[in-house]
Amino acid sequence: MAPPTVSLSFPHGGKSSFSGGLFINNEFVAAGDGKTFAVVNPSDGKEIAQVAEASAKDVDVAVKAARKAFNESWGLNVPGFKRGQLLIKLAELIEANLEEIAAIESLDNGKAFSIAKGFDITEVAANIRYYAGWADKNHGKVIEVDSSKLHIQRQEPMGVCGQIIPWNFPALMFAWKIGPALAMGNTIVLKTAEQTPLSALKMCELIKEAGFPPGVVNVISGFGPVAGAAIANHMDIDKVAFTGSTLVGRNILKAAASSNLKKVTLELGGKSPNIIFADADLDQAISWSAFGIMFNHGQCCCAGSRVYVEESIYEKFMAKFDEKIKSIQVGNPFEGNTFQGPQVSQLQYDRIMAYIDSGKKEGATLRTGGIRHGQEGYFIEPTVFTDVNPDSKIGREEIFGPVVVVHKFKDNADLIKKANDSVYGLAAAVFSRDVTRALDTANKLQAGTVWVNCYNQLNPQVPFGGFKQSGIGRELGEAALASYSQSKSIHVNLHAPNPM
Ligand code: ADP
Repeated sequence: MAPPTVSLSFPHGGKSSFSGGLFINNEFVAAGDGKTFAVVNPSDGKEIAQVAEASAKDVDVAVKAARKAFNESWGLNVPGFKRGQLLIKLAELIEANLEEIAAIESLDNGKAFSIAKGFDITEVAANIRYYAGWADKNHGKVIEVDSSKLHIQRQEPMGVCGQIIPWNFPALMFAWKIGPALAMGNTIVLKTAEQTPLSALKMCELIKEAGFPPGVVNVISGFGPVAGAAIANHMDIDKVAFTGSTLVGRNILKAAASSNLKKVTLELGGKSPNIIFADADLDQAISWSAFGIMFNHGQCCCAGSRVYVEESIYEKFMAKFDEKIKSIQVGNPFEGNTFQGPQVSQLQYDRIMAYIDSGKKEGATLRTGGIRHGQEGYFIEPTVFTDVNPDSKIGREEIFGPVVVVHKFKDNADLIKKANDSVYGLAAAVFSRDVTRALDTANKLQAGTVWVNCYNQLNPQVPFGGFKQSGIGRELGEAALASYSQSKSIHVNLHAPNPM
């Protein structure tokens, strides 16, 4: 049976056509049982394509392909410089197809085309290039113990890595995952999110064109409880890397524990505090704070969703912040000045609206937004709540939408306590002109990333990941190489005396 074909027409003109099959062994194939599922345009809720739906059996076929490639044509069989060359070729092909991949991403996810092009897909290429550079810099160590022996530590690939990614940055999460894994010589079975499988499929064409051997990268579309769970439970996957909700992250860890104890890294949710001191540059703080929560329609695990403003500037801050939030352009992702498109799905739309309702019911003040935008699709007006009880649902839980709660604070010690009073610890931000205050505060915040006088800055070179229930391990930077490799210690006897 032939796999489905995806044929897209973009609202701003142009078309794209590629396979909607499972990408296994460098071929696009139908699911074993022939199943497919619909991909929906979140701007109007209409179906745009059908793609193959992987079952546990398909996952197994993909794992076998990945294992064979690891043993025969990748891993320690291919020198690092060669892996790096292939990654550079892939980055070049992504750059050559930037407009098309950005349009696919925008149509499938709902993010603005200009942002998909200028940020998401540009960063995809930058991340792949960054890890291409690491591929031949995997130097081991010689460890000094005593002169009778030589102790060598080398970093070897894990083997077959399962990777499960979310829908908020479909292409970028794909790059964050495959870059370090491939640089270190692993093979991959990656599952995209069921809401947004398309950009990865287009990039699979480019992986093949770049010349990666068959079976090195295998990408499947499918649902979490079936294909995702099959990856997490598989006995021949050596490591699983997951980005998504804390709830599912817990399931991944349990599945790893009850199967083969595969290594696990998790990048999970957040409810990140964003702190504005009275001495901050107000315009700068307002601009970055609006960006901090509303970028990507609030669908960022590191979104600055709890803003804390020092009491003496609170009224002034709020007046300007309201204005800034109201000025955000919500609408068609393919129109030039759009900043915010639709939420990704009906389910996410419903979840966010339920949070907004609960905020109203629990007595918070709705300053702006709180309603649907337009007549169709999953658009929500950027929403600001104040007078929020920190223990209410909107005060504590990750909303993952364009909804921010703003608190005021007076006392520094109390502020730190409140900012850290969360099960999460992914990110935080501090706005102040006083470098000592900013750094003292940054040091006291329980978060894997703290931004000072900015927000949402992510670079391939800089590690990213969570304290507390926001995750396990780090992505990006040199740190990610460690989670895609394992050290082997080799003890060599030079002239140690026989032990007995
Ligand atoms: P969201 O609720 O925002 O969709 P999820 O954490 O459910 O976030 O999804 C992130 C990724 O995890 C997706 O690729 C999804 O298919 C996958 N997933 C969901 N449930 C499971 C599960 N039980 N096991 C493995 N993967 C899952």
